[in-house]
Amino acid sequence: MKIIDAHVHFSDVDRFRKTATEISKIDYSSEGLLRSLSDNRIVACIAMGLTETAPGRFPDDLAHTPMMPDLETEWPKGMFCCAGINPADLQARGRQAVAELRHVLSHPKTVGIKLYAGYYPFYVTDTVYDPVYALASEFGLPIVIHGGITYSERGLLKYSHPLSFDEAIVLHEDLTFVVCHLGEPWVMDTAALISKNPNVVADLSGLLVADAPTIRKKAAQTGEMLRLRQPLLFEEQYDRFLFGTDWPLAPLDAYVEFVKTLIPETYHGDVFYRNAIRVFPRLRDALALINA
Ligand SMILES: [Zn+2]
Repeated sequence: MKIIDAHVHFSDVDRFRKTATEISKIDYSSEGLLRSLSDNRIVACIAMGLTETAPGRFPDDLAHTPMMPDLETEWPKGMFCCAGINPADLQARGRQAVAELRHVLSHPKTVGIKLYAGYYPFYVTDTVYDPVYALASEFGLPIVIHGGITYSERGLLKYSHPLSFDEAIVLHEDLTFVVCHLGEPWVMDTAALISKNPNVVADLSGLLVADAPTIRKKAAQTGEMLRLRQPLLFEEQYDRFLFGTDWPLAPLDAYVEFVKTLIPETYHGDVFYRNAIRVFPRLRDALALINA
């Protein structure tokens, strides 16, 4: 089975480096990513653009929009990206930042736009995002939003609660929205968003931040799996979920196995591949070219 990992990181961010060394025990480099992708038949991955201006500053007010994957100067083959938005920078640099964003969005390897709700203290309905939604509409790109707990104690949860996305989703019915991490732990609130709004999907990344043995142990725990299956079983809309890992926060092989346990086998082709192709039209076009 071909796989698309719809959520990884490839950024020179101290917190990611530390997690890779101390928690997930993976090689956080181009070489490490390429090896894991090919071992798991992952044909493409989407890196969520993020930068910090000094080690440990993430979420960094000073980072310029668009934030792009900057772990190494060359991107690994098969990697695409969502351009990251820092709303504080959008406010500070205004038109200049919007012009730089527009430039990056015209590149075929940019397949979406990432909002770091909760990491930055702005509701996704804030008018600071108006030019971002306008560009998403112009380029036909999805809006990917961090949902749920933040991987930084400086985050503010009221901005990353899935229900706080509802109004923006309704106001921009022409756009597709991806809620990351199923909004964990507000997974049923995310299920409600998906049920009501046809333009919403959720990714299954970052549900476990751990090394391979810990992920395997969790995947065998009935209670934990029941909890995570609940939002998936609600209306059983398996066309609305995307496989993603949040690499380097989890090793790819164990995470693939974990999500395979979570999703009924009949829907593996949708969740691991076909849904991502539909949600990210540029990725579909790029893969069609490679396979042509
Ligand atoms: Zn992430």
